[in-house]
Amino acid sequence: MATGRVADMKIAFIGLGNMGGGMAANLVKAGHAVRAFDLSEDALARARDNGCQTYTSVREAVEGAEAVVSMLPNGKIVDSVYSADVIGHAPASALLLDCSTIDVDTARKVADAASAAGYEMVDAPVSGGIAAANGGTLTFMVGGSDQAFARAEPILAAMGKAVIHAGASGAGQAAKICNNMILGATMIATCEAFALAEKLGLDLQTFYDISSKASGQSWSMTSYCPVPGVGPASPADNGYQGGFAAALMLKDLKLAIEAAASVGARVPMGTRAGQLYEEFAAAGNGATDFSGIIKAL
Ligand code: NAD
Repeated sequence: MATGRVADMKIAFIGLGNMGGGMAANLVKAGHAVRAFDLSEDALARARDNGCQTYTSVREAVEGAEAVVSMLPNGKIVDSVYSADVIGHAPASALLLDCSTIDVDTARKVADAASAAGYEMVDAPVSGGIAAANGGTLTFMVGGSDQAFARAEPILAAMGKAVIHAGASGAGQAAKICNNMILGATMIATCEAFALAEKLGLDLQTFYDISSKASGQSWSMTSYCPVPGVGPASPADNGYQGGFAAALMLKDLKLAIEAAASVGARVPMGTRAGQLYEEFAAAGNGATDFSGIIKAL
């Protein structure tokens, strides 16, 4: 069983976009030989600059790999990449780690297919955006067996500040979407309270000073305040650029709403947050930071 730091592993990395690019670079910095693949030539060129070896297909990248890490856009793509090109092509001894944010059912389905072919696999979605991916300060929420987690932990530690075992297969995805459902709903509640406070004639810094020390306090308020010039530096101070795109918040809320329907859970606040982010994104704000929804309130 692997413990502590590991280095010198052959790690295939599939999906070198905004998040995966920085994560793969951090695996290189930790001393691993990273075998990278992405459909985008630009992403491959950046990966080469960061010390990765690049390949022209997933199958080539996973050849001889001791671990395979993926950071892909959605569940459909994760399913097709693993079933067509990873399972049965990477050595069966390779640990499979999918760090993408996808639906719980697909995560379990892919892990079951991997397990039937003799692999250990974890779902390991992340909290933290592009800056955390570049800086190696992501938080990983991991679903999988104790043994798979023990193998995954030192690999993920090279890309993050915290690696938490959430439970069995799919539990990482479940934790991620439940967390982000809280985030989406509290951000909207925070935005509407600041908008109301302003209309009621309150000075917004004064309202922040009160509410941040009172029961209305939340991460959305004190770590990511949606009002420019109030609270610590946040995307609000930068015209709502950078940070966590509203389109990605909408994606996570849709996953949470779907997951709730699949188990018969009532999520009225999550559902309403999903509707509001849907309207916000449809109005051309998908690339805007999710705290920018204050402009629509
Ligand atoms: P991105 O679109 O920047 O990167 C995805 C990469 O996957 C692209 O480079 C694309 O070319 C590549 N890709 C697509 N299909 C492929 C295939 N079949 N084979 C190989 N490569 C393929 O997206 P991102 O922002 O890096 O997000 C990746 C994942 O991380 C998503 O699941 C997202 O929800 C999650 N996430 C993103 C953030 C964020 O702030 N961006 C934060 C937390 C989690």
